[in-house]
Amino acid sequence: MATTSHLRSLDRDHVWHPFTQMDRWLADDQLVIESAEGVWLVDTDGNRYLDGNASLWVNVHGHRHPKLDQALREQIDKVSHSTFLGLSNVPATQLAAKLVELAPEGLTRAFFSEAGAAAVEVAIKMAHAYWLHHDQPQRDLFVSVEGAYHGDTIGSVSVGHIDAFHETYRPLLFTTAAVPQPYCYRCPLSLEPTTCGLACAEALTDVLAEHGDRVAAVVVEPRVQGAAGIITAPDGHLRRMAEIARAHGALLIVDEVATGFGRTGPLFSCTAEGVVPDLMAVGKGLTGGYLPMSATLATEAVFEAFSGKTFFHGHSYSGNPLTAAVALANLELFETEDALAAAAGLATHLTEGLGRFAAHPNVGEIRQRGTMIGIELVADRESRAAFPPEDLTGAKVCRAARDHGLVIRPLGDTVVVMPALTMRTHEADLLLDALWAGLVDVLGDGALGD
Ligand code: PMP
Repeated sequence: MATTSHLRSLDRDHVWHPFTQMDRWLADDQLVIESAEGVWLVDTDGNRYLDGNASLWVNVHGHRHPKLDQALREQIDKVSHSTFLGLSNVPATQLAAKLVELAPEGLTRAFFSEAGAAAVEVAIKMAHAYWLHHDQPQRDLFVSVEGAYHGDTIGSVSVGHIDAFHETYRPLLFTTAAVPQPYCYRCPLSLEPTTCGLACAEALTDVLAEHGDRVAAVVVEPRVQGAAGIITAPDGHLRRMAEIARAHGALLIVDEVATGFGRTGPLFSCTAEGVVPDLMAVGKGLTGGYLPMSATLATEAVFEAFSGKTFFHGHSYSGNPLTAAVALANLELFETEDALAAAAGLATHLTEGLGRFAAHPNVGEIRQRGTMIGIELVADRESRAAFPPEDLTGAKVCRAARDHGLVIRPLGDTVVVMPALTMRTHEADLLLDALWAGLVDVLGDGALGD
């Protein structure tokens, strides 16, 4: 049996981790996860940790759900993979139909990939080709939102706007236009939410007035910008963006990779504002957090633009039967176990439990939509001054919380809490206790004037 120290040394010597400053990684003793159950992760020493970010926003019904395990086992006994190029398979076909049934009405086709980034990439390529096929090749510009994150491929980075992640690659990217971020706590337009008239969304009118006949599509994370720091857009923002895009004839691409599958309340966030996009990217929770699979859903109008043409895109593992089987079982659980009702109860419980955090002098803002939560830490609440980024305050709080039995990850100085939808209330209480303990370890409890 491999020991923890042996595995750690293998990791140190041979692994390059994603989104990780490896020098800092190498300087710490890292957890090696061996097993999991429900909302708990278990490391190689048998220590149990609450999975506070649902294994990076993917886990939905908990780890090792019997129904998902069973779906996977049954599919392994049939076929693990056969190509989707020139062949179909049983679970991916059924999954496409199920996704269309559950998606906003009007989305009729599912195109499968493996990562959220690829689902966005596909949407971009479909939108680009759509206009070519409609003899409008000048429509080659994409508009997205400041602070957006849509994945790591060159196309999805092109519509992304997080400098820390994206700046290095600017020379490789295609040009896009951007509208201001709906970040009310630090409004880029210096306006107040009660009186701004959704000026950040209205700014799309100006961009489209200037470039409208050149715009292929507007790309938006619906109601929550995830990686930007759980930026919860004000009500009506998405609807207004959609209206303006439509008025100028641009396609609307909604990126539900983070927000989809109940994370913000409804199954898909865009339905909360009655928005039906032309293209919708889903991923993360599609398989309940089991296996990598994503999909780009398209309307029949987009699909028909390709009549007589080929969409030249696809991967070796497109429509993989194992991932599709578990995705199908995952979607069925939403119906049989009413995960959305459970998530609504959990969201309310978390809101109540977060009350004590709101009173802490280093908590600037708590943003929450459903079970997506961001706690923005600040050096000074009055002035909203941020901590110096090099202090890594958010990272320190999350690292301290680990010593209290919680695995979470920050986005800068915003601590993200995003549990599985079915986390029970006593587990949510443990999560908040561990997070509070981590916060107090690093920043004191405030009340004592630390
Ligand atoms: N879009 C959004 C909104 C995301 O939050 C993410 C991942 N955090 C992605 C796309 C990319 O997904 P993946 O990491 O699976 O490529």
